[in-house]
Amino acid sequence: MTATVPDAGPQAGEIWKRPLPDKTVVLTFDDAVRSQITFVAPLLKELGFGATFYVCDFPRTPEDEDKYMTWEQIADLHGMGFEVANHTRCHPNIGKIPEAEIAEELDYIDRQCRAHGIPATTTFAYPGYGLNEKALPIFAERGFLFARAGGSRCYDPTADHPYLVPSFDIAGTDEGKVIGFLNQVGPGKAAVLTVHGVPDLLHPWVNTPPEVFEHYLHYLKENGYTVLAMRDLAEYVDTAAARDELEDVWKKRFE
Ligand SMILES: [Zn+2]
Repeated sequence: MTATVPDAGPQAGEIWKRPLPDKTVVLTFDDAVRSQITFVAPLLKELGFGATFYVCDFPRTPEDEDKYMTWEQIADLHGMGFEVANHTRCHPNIGKIPEAEIAEELDYIDRQCRAHGIPATTTFAYPGYGLNEKALPIFAERGFLFARAGGSRCYDPTADHPYLVPSFDIAGTDEGKVIGFLNQVGPGKAAVLTVHGVPDLLHPWVNTPPEVFEHYLHYLKENGYTVLAMRDLAEYVDTAAARDELEDVWKKRFE
């Protein structure tokens, strides 16, 4: 595996703990959809890929219960070595709720994790990509390493605040578009992919068909990508230094 220290500004040296592998992809799966344990996780395991599962626990109808993972299944993901991380309990736009409610939404997921033998969560994904300027101290106090947002571009740790990590949404069947996303990865930059169910029968607008998803995984394998969970980026990025250095990036996002 080759790796290059990216040529960036003076702050870059403090942000990097060690160089990111040249072709790094982070796989993230949202909303605790059942197909993530029945189809996605075994496939990733077979390929030796890491991934993060951003779970929530919003109210569901009895008919929909089997479309989502149970907490026992979520614990199985942890047991398989994957990251279980925080997507809030009820999936609100956190830009539209008070801070106390944000904290409670996050606490619920950690309580459930604890009750099921899963460590407290250390990364977050914004439901619906809704941001909130006031979330920063809440995230920092919890020791969150990263928070995943939208943006449809690669994550550059020397330019993107760790609580505003951009990601690509790969839903749909446009394989050329997604391969294009993967080809944007370069030295010092990672492509973080947002995925929902594979398939996602309840939310067809974020569906990824299994055969299409398999093509992406094979592309990653055949082309020598390093495929990680979100938390794994902290082996390369000093997130506390990045928060200090990139404070203005956070502020500017909300101007
Ligand atoms: Zn979601």
